[in-house]
Amino acid sequence: MSGSKIKAPRGTFDVLGEQASARAMLEARARSILEGAGYERIETPVFEATELFARGVGESTDIVRKEMFTFQDAGGRSLTLRPEGTAPVCRAYVEHGMHKLRRPVKLWYLSSFFRHERAQAGRYRQFWQVGAEALGSEDPAVDAESIVLLSRLLAEMRVSDVRLRLSSLGSPESRSEYRERLQTYLRAHEDSLAEEVRARIDLNPLRAFDSEHPGTQRVMQGAPRLLEHLNSEDAEHFAQVRSLLDVVNIPYEVDSTLVRGLDYYTRTVFEFTSDALGAQSGVGGGGRYDRLVEQMGGPPTPGMGWAAGIERIMLAGDAPPAAPAPVELFVALEDPHADVRAVAFALLNEARSAGISARMDLGGRSLKGQLGHAAALGVRFVAIVGRNQTTLKDTQGGRQEPMASDAVVHAVLRAHRAV
Ligand code: AMP
Repeated sequence: MSGSKIKAPRGTFDVLGEQASARAMLEARARSILEGAGYERIETPVFEATELFARGVGESTDIVRKEMFTFQDAGGRSLTLRPEGTAPVCRAYVEHGMHKLRRPVKLWYLSSFFRHERAQAGRYRQFWQVGAEALGSEDPAVDAESIVLLSRLLAEMRVSDVRLRLSSLGSPESRSEYRERLQTYLRAHEDSLAEEVRARIDLNPLRAFDSEHPGTQRVMQGAPRLLEHLNSEDAEHFAQVRSLLDVVNIPYEVDSTLVRGLDYYTRTVFEFTSDALGAQSGVGGGGRYDRLVEQMGGPPTPGMGWAAGIERIMLAGDAPPAAPAPVELFVALEDPHADVRAVAFALLNEARSAGISARMDLGGRSLKGQLGHAAALGVRFVAIVGRNQTTLKDTQGGRQEPMASDAVVHAVLRAHRAV
C-alpha cells in the first residue's frame, strides 16, 4: 500500500553523509581531549523521572516550566526526555555511590537532549551536547581546567570568533542577601519591566539580566551587581579561577550580567559564544553546582561542568572533514554466475579479516561498470574474479597478474609492505 510521505517532527533532523563523519570527528576529538584529562565516559537513560529535573534544574526555569517533553508511562509514572545532562549525571553519581571513588570524579558524555523550543537555525527540539562534569572538589583549578578543556575543543574544531564570558554567582548564602537587594530594586522599577520579569521577581529575580525586553534592559543597566556583593571566600575563589585562566592565556570578559538558564549554579559560571552564529550565539557553557548532589539526596559534593551544542560547533566551526579511509582492494566479478560470486565474496571477507579495506560490487553492474566504480573510489588493487582464474591488477604501475583467488590477499599485503 502506498501512502503520503511522513516527515521527521519539527525541530528534529537526520544526520547524513558528511555531517555524520564531521560529527564522528568531533566525538573523536572530544574523547581524546577529555579522556586525556582523566574524564570517563558516562551514558545515562534518555528518559528520567520528571522529579529529577523539577528538583535538579529548578521549577522556576524556562526548561522546567515550558520546554520539557513529559509523558506518563502505563503505570502512571511521570517521565521526561532529558533536557540536559548535569542532573542525570548527579543522579547516577548518588545512585552508584561514586563519592567513594577518588576525587574529583570526572565524567563526560555526548548524547541527545530534548527541549520543546521554538525551532529555528541553531535551535532544535532534539539536539546533541558534549558535556563534562567533575564532582567532589572545590578547587578553583577544577574550574579553570574544565573551561580550558572546552576552549581547546572549540579551538580544535576551529570555531571562529569565540568569546568567553565569565562571572561568579557566589554561594547561595551570599546570593540570598543580594537577591533581596535586587528584588527591592526591581520592585522600585516595576512599571518599566516586562510582564514575564515582573512575574518572576519573587521566584527568580536574577533572570531579569537575561531579558531581551528593552525597558527591562534599561532598568538592568543600573541594577546592583552580584559580583560586587560576593563574600570574601567566593570573591577569592573567583580571583583564583581568573588567575589560572590568565596563566594559560585564555582570554575572557568578566560579565556581571551573566546568568544561566538553570537554577543549580553556584560560584563560577561561564559561556562561550561565537559571533559567527547570529542570534543563537551560545556555543557552550556551564559552571559550578556545589549544592546539586546534596539536592539529589547525596552527600555534600561540589561539582563543576559544562555542555556544548554539537550543532552549534558544526555551524560555527570549519574543521576540515576527515578524509574517508581509502579503499585498498576492489573485488570485481567477470561474470554474474553464482560460483564466481561465491569465490569473490570469500575473497572480500578474507581481505577484510586481514585488515585490508575492501569492496565488492553489490549492484549487479557489468564488468565495465564495476571497473568504473573502482576507479571512482581511487582503489589501488582490483581483483577480477572469473570462472577459472582471478587476475590482480595494480593500478599504480599497471601490473596485471593471474593468480589463484586465495593468493590475492597475500599479494596485496606484500605490495603494501614493499611501499
Ligand atoms: P544549556 O544546557 O542551555 O546551558 O546549553 C548548552 C549549549 O547547548 C548551548 O550553548 C547550545 O550550544 C546548546 N543548546 C542548548 N539548547 C539547544 C537547542 N534547543 N538546540 C541546539 N543547541 C542547543
